[in-house]
Amino acid sequence: MKYLFKNLIIAFLVFLAIAGSFTLFNNTTEEAEELSLSNLVEQINQENVSVITIKGDKLEIELKDSTKQEATKERETSLTESLKNYGVDSEKLKLVNLEIKGESGAAFWVGNILPFLLPLLIIGFLFWFMFRGAQKGQMKAFTFGRSKARLIDPKDKKNKIGFKDVAGLKEAKEELEEIVEFLKTPKKFIDLGAKIPKGVLLVGAPGTGKTLLARAVASEASVPFFSVSGSEFVEMFVGVGSSRVRDLFQTAKKNAPALIFIDELDAIGRQRGAGIGGGHDEREQTLNQILVEMDGFEVNTGVILISATNRPDVLDPALLRPGRFDRRITLDLPDIKDRKKILEIHSLNKPFEKDVNLKEIAERTPGFSGADLANLVNEAAILTARQNKKKISQDELRECIEKVLLGPERKSNILSKEEKEIAAYHESGHALTAALLPNADPVQKISIISRGMAAGYTLKLPLTDKHLHSRSEFIDELTVLLGGYTAEKLVFKELTTGASNDLQIATELARKLVTKYGMSEKLGPRTFGGREEMVFLGREISTEKDYSEEIASQIDKEVSKFTDNAYKTATKLITDNRKKLNQIAQVLIKKEVIERKQFEALMKKKV
Ligand code: ADP
Ligand code: MG
Ligand code: ZN
Repeated sequence: MKYLFKNLIIAFLVFLAIAGSFTLFNNTTEEAEELSLSNLVEQINQENVSVITIKGDKLEIELKDSTKQEATKERETSLTESLKNYGVDSEKLKLVNLEIKGESGAAFWVGNILPFLLPLLIIGFLFWFMFRGAQKGQMKAFTFGRSKARLIDPKDKKNKIGFKDVAGLKEAKEELEEIVEFLKTPKKFIDLGAKIPKGVLLVGAPGTGKTLLARAVASEASVPFFSVSGSEFVEMFVGVGSSRVRDLFQTAKKNAPALIFIDELDAIGRQRGAGIGGGHDEREQTLNQILVEMDGFEVNTGVILISATNRPDVLDPALLRPGRFDRRITLDLPDIKDRKKILEIHSLNKPFEKDVNLKEIAERTPGFSGADLANLVNEAAILTARQNKKKISQDELRECIEKVLLGPERKSNILSKEEKEIAAYHESGHALTAALLPNADPVQKISIISRGMAAGYTLKLPLTDKHLHSRSEFIDELTVLLGGYTAEKLVFKELTTGASNDLQIATELARKLVTKYGMSEKLGPRTFGGREEMVFLGREISTEKDYSEEIASQIDKEVSKFTDNAYKTATKLITDNRKKLNQIAQVLIKKEVIERKQFEALMKKKV
């Protein structure tokens, strides 16, 4: 709008300038005296007039003494007729040199047409201007081949990311190497009658390297690579999304062999009519267009579509049908070996002290994604710089594990003496139960320095990466989760809000044991609730209820049984070891942080 006003003002000024110059121009000619027609006739009859120039209605009269005068004739009648009406002597009139000129160009336009044209011009200008503004905003769809896809040129050496820059993900890389080979030497496969896959779907938790891997494929295959994010398709203008898809595929086909990469496919590929995120017609049209295009291109056109998503569960089943994304590659969170490799890749250009042991960092970071690890190394570099040190040491790396895990330490958020005591007993409750239970993960660190949202925390990490979890592990885990709550209750005979997060996690876990893992003896080996949630998504979406009200109340009872039992176990453990609890809590109040080795020594110490 600001620009609109500015331009309006400019247009107005230009108009003023033009109008002004014309008035000036007119003034110079209007020095002549205005004659009435009857006067003119009189002059003619007296043979004073030498030339009359007719310009439209205007008459320029030159007298014999070469003075100039002007007159206006009647619009509708011709001059001679008018003059006759005023009684001119026709013999005398013949002596006058009559010159007829069309009204002078500019004056004619200004005089007659501009008043009508100008408003039109202004309106036209306004329309043009608004259209241009709108284009700049959301209607960019009309630009660059309409598809808005970024073309990554295989010859671009600067942004080159190869498979070597992607650590781990061995199986995924193997599958994709095959795709690369399809693109490089399609003949080899076609000769054998093999169908080259049309679509590859990369599935994995956020930060596992899906986007990274797709870019690596692009440069390895050295074919044109069209990359676009799903959310870029979702635009406000109806029809734009699907026309973009059409364009994207057309451009790719023209450049075949080529790769198309649609990142964050779930932004468009959600189940149609599911009602999640509203019944968005535009999105559905876009999705339909993708389906049409995927069916439309014949096998072996040399165009392969790669897509990435972290929500395969919400994707429209039509997308997952064979013949569309016929390859599905799952990217797992990295295991300890891969974590070390990822750390190494991201440490390449960073100066490290000699004491740095990336293996230890890898050990301490189960559950971290590639992106978390990259972030960890980066945070360590920032921390080192803030301390004005030249090289990153192990301490900074360790410190940053917790920072990435729990948010930054909040030293400023100092707990009052009473709060500190409560936090200390709460965390000691977790740590003590964890240490006493055979199937719980070992305690790595206890701290009552608040971090992120937590007042304190007890860090327990498994010694190895685990893929399967047993019932006894879960039961011990539940007990440890309730350890903080139980300790507070036993020591202070009072409860605080500090345990609410623990309770929530514990309840969710107990519910999963019953409804997902079939670990409740009473309800037996079946699941309850609709679609299976992928483990790594970690978030529950609305599940369909596929059981009766009666079962629902049984589920509730079973969930409560798990948590009640855990609470009982925690109470017994803490009551029996009350002195130990006091001991841990006292150390914690004094030191605020207890590391694993100190804690193990503390557990062995006599009370
Ligand atoms: P997403 O799966 O969410 O698309 P990205 O591919 O964007 O994840 O990964 C984010 C960042 O994490 C990458 O830019 C890279 O720095 C790092 N990263 C993730 N996985 C790996 C890996 N396997 N090797 C090296 N770096 C990785
Ligand atoms: Mg991504
Ligand atoms: Zn707790």
